[in-house]
Amino acid sequence: MTNEQTLLDELHALIRYIYRKNIAEKIITAFAESLAAKDDPQERLSIIHHWLDFYQAHKYRKMMRRRRATFQERLTACSACGYPTSHRHHLWDIATHGENAVTVQLCPNCHELHHLLYNTLARDSDYSRKLVQHILFSGQIVPEAVQRIYGWLRAIIAYEIQNGWLESYKLSDLWIEEKLHWSEYLERSGTIPR
Ligand SMILES: [Zn+2]
Ligand SMILES: [Zn+2]
Repeated sequence: MTNEQTLLDELHALIRYIYRKNIAEKIITAFAESLAAKDDPQERLSIIHHWLDFYQAHKYRKMMRRRRATFQERLTACSACGYPTSHRHHLWDIATHGENAVTVQLCPNCHELHHLLYNTLARDSDYSRKLVQHILFSGQIVPEAVQRIYGWLRAIIAYEIQNGWLESYKLSDLWIEEKLHWSEYLERSGTIPR
């Protein structure tokens, strides 16, 4: 049987995560008072469970909320190509990890390229693959910028494979060749293949 105090501790931790200190303590006190009026242990447990579920859902929504970029972040140059303003790109996507600090500042073009590359390799999107081909072989993108984006992409796909979220072939040389024509790109862009 689950210990009431353990559940209460869990509930208090949740409330303190969601609310600022003063408000959290008020809620906790009010809850303790209303619970004190109940004698039946089963009823007490079911009340605690009810509020645990409630605040659990609350915490989840809070975690999933995308934080708005600060002006200072917008003024940061693109980490891939150096364009003077940028967006915050989540390497760990919000849908899976919630708002998190694993981000990189990218200008709109590099940002889109990163997403297109990811969708090409990880999701096998044909639509993205065609756009990627068009972009890579346009000769308009600085190869160093592409290389940087490609580096983050590999790291994030490797991480997802490690966690069992993606099939491991999605980082194989064969797959990358087939989807990106990568060695041809390196050759044409004057970058030495590794
Ligand atoms: Zn850029
Ligand atoms: Zn993004």
